Amino acid sequence: MSITRRQFVANTAATAALAGLAPRLRAAGSGDPDVIVIGAGLSGLETALTLEENGLKVRLLEGRKRVGGRLYTLFDLPGHPEAGGNSIASAYGRAIAAAKRNGIEVMNVAPRLMKNRAGQELFLGGEHIKLADWAAHPRNPFSGEARKLPPWAWSDAMFRQHLPFRDLENWHDAAHAQHDISVHDFLSANGATDAQIHLGYDTNISYGTTARDVSLLQQAFADHWQAVNRSAAPQNLLIGVFKDGNQNLPIAMARRLKGDLLQGRRVVAIETGPDSATVTCSDGSRHRAKAVVCSMPFSTLRNVALDPLPPSLQYKAIQTLGYIPITQFHVVAKKPFWEMDGLSPSMWTDGPLGSVLAQKSGKTDDEVTSLTVWCRGLNGLFIDRFGVEEGKRMILEEFARLRPASKGLLTVGAVHSWTADPFSAGDWAIFQPGQVRELRASIATPHQRLFFCGEHTAIGSRGIEGALESAERVSLEVLGAVG
Ligand SMILES: Cc1cc2nc3c(=O)[nH]c(=O)nc-3n(C[C@H](O)[C@H](O)[C@H](O)COP(=O)(O)OP(=O)(O)OC[C@H]3O[C@@H](n4cnc5c(N)ncnc54)[C@H](O)[C@@H]3O)c2cc1C
Repeated sequence: MSITRRQFVANTAATAALAGLAPRLRAAGSGDPDVIVIGAGLSGLETALTLEENGLKVRLLEGRKRVGGRLYTLFDLPGHPEAGGNSIASAYGRAIAAAKRNGIEVMNVAPRLMKNRAGQELFLGGEHIKLADWAAHPRNPFSGEARKLPPWAWSDAMFRQHLPFRDLENWHDAAHAQHDISVHDFLSANGATDAQIHLGYDTNISYGTTARDVSLLQQAFADHWQAVNRSAAPQNLLIGVFKDGNQNLPIAMARRLKGDLLQGRRVVAIETGPDSATVTCSDGSRHRAKAVVCSMPFSTLRNVALDPLPPSLQYKAIQTLGYIPITQFHVVAKKPFWEMDGLSPSMWTDGPLGSVLAQKSGKTDDEVTSLTVWCRGLNGLFIDRFGVEEGKRMILEEFARLRPASKGLLTVGAVHSWTADPFSAGDWAIFQPGQVRELRASIATPHQRLFFCGEHTAIGSRGIEGALESAERVSLEVLGAVG
């Protein structure tokens, strides 16, 4: 079957308008489906729904016993904090449309966040440093005007000033291949010292484990996405969350599926040929279809036996694409210790607590419902080595050291290591130096009847929106191939 983009959009819109939201009980139906989709995260669910809306019979195989993948709401903690994807913004057109199609309200929390900007307290080497004292402080490694910037703002300023090209949306274009170097090399070449890079980029890192394993082109992609999302006038700024928990969107999407949704099915092997593909799960079940769409992150796909192996560059991408390590501790306070010591509950530290963000999802704008401790990069790997119970103890001990008023008032309600989680094995995907030039173009190329989606395959948008962008592309590929 071949299908034009216009027919595809028309079919999708019409069926979406008619689709009911009633939950269904689904077990393996009889007969082979047309398409198997692996993974019930956003990209897999959106692909499955789109293919169904275009007349195909779909079976979804999910390894976990829940849907949503990296959208994961802690529904049993106060305020329903997010362990996964946090928020969307104004350039998330697909996510906003998907919420509408699935009956989920998007709440704009920007006014609440803006009103409540208590800021983060800076702690370095266990010492509390007032931001007013930072420019002259002996721990400040920056020079000139940059000494006035808090450490978390330094690298953005360096990128704004020195990025060697301006058309950041073309970050993947061959014309920029010479910039596929490490962020560390780029910052050094622009005069930064190792101490500056360590504090200003590696500490509470956003991509990779250190500046040495992140491509400057990856950073350009992230900066581009941030810029388009921040281009709205302040009064139109959107920081959106899905009502009562972001995981409500994938849950609503799963309810609309007509075909099988089999959870607890860990995929261990995929065989593909010119006309069909077969998926084997760890329970021994085998599933055959005319096409298979794989939304698994490459960090987990690398543990799946693929037969035949994909072409060498795609295989190399599956084996080596980077993922940032992130572990979160969700902490609940019996009493607001920040009112006792007079500091903000949120912190930016160079110790095991990493960065701490106060969640304000209560009935009033300033009620703190929980604290999220983000351990990223090397700090995430460090804390994971101690295991969950010892990790909790270390986190509470560090709170008590930095904020003595918190002693005895905190409990850890939940811990989630995205690195140790076998269904993510890391958090978001990272192009390492040289990988954009060598591997990017091969990542999502169909391999016989095996197709690829997922945030790691998106090129125009990132995160939640990237996952949905990838579903759009792969749906067109599959509809074009499966007749
Ligand atoms: C802590 C955190 C914060 C984030 N913050 C934001 C944010 O603020 N804004 C934003 O836009 N994005 C954010 N993201 C990223 C965003 O959540 C993800 O990019 C997006 O949800 C990924 O969707 P996906 O479908 O590509 O992958 P996933 O959601 O990971 O889906 C893949 C699915 O495949 C399944 N799977 C894996 N291996 C197997 C196997 N062997 N067998 C069967 N199934 C398998 C998984 O269980 C999963 O359900 C964040 C993510 C995290 C974790």
